[in-house]
Amino acid sequence: MKAAVLVIDMLNDFVKGSLKVAGADEIVPRIRELLAWAREKGMPVIYANDAHIRGVDAELKLWGQHAIKGTWGAMVVEELKPEEGDFVVKKRRYSAFFGTDLDLLLRELGVDTLILTGLVTNVCVQHTAADAFYRGYKLIVVSDCCTALTDEDHEMALEYMRRVYGAEVKSAREVMEGI
Ligand code: ZN
Repeated sequence: MKAAVLVIDMLNDFVKGSLKVAGADEIVPRIRELLAWAREKGMPVIYANDAHIRGVDAELKLWGQHAIKGTWGAMVVEELKPEEGDFVVKKRRYSAFFGTDLDLLLRELGVDTLILTGLVTNVCVQHTAADAFYRGYKLIVVSDCCTALTDEDHEMALEYMRRVYGAEVKSAREVMEGI
């Protein structure tokens, strides 16, 4: 097994800005710890970041302006800033695979397992999990490194990914301890 950690939409707009997700602040330190662990092990760290085109992208009509390409809101929060050797994929839809070169990147890195973290559990994380499942990747969703607008949304999405995509749902501690 070769795993990579995927950090989805830990951007200023979602953590502190126009589309703030309550509870996003709380997962920042845990993701930070998980990323330090992954880099230490030589495991690829890949960011999948919304980078929307103003006035064009369909999502903006549903959610309002957020993560507009090139703005502060579309940047990864300072505490989780990508480091040298990390990878950054820009996306315009919920799924990190849709219209991006993520699949090509993962294949070239020889990755077969994705460790999913970030926002929002039942939207971008779940849609990314679906696309990963279709492409044959194994999935580990880190339950305390993701969050949603409500606890119920979060729990339902974790259960859905477990049942429908065969994802393992683990805490950051369990992932790092290899449990
Ligand atoms: Zn978006």
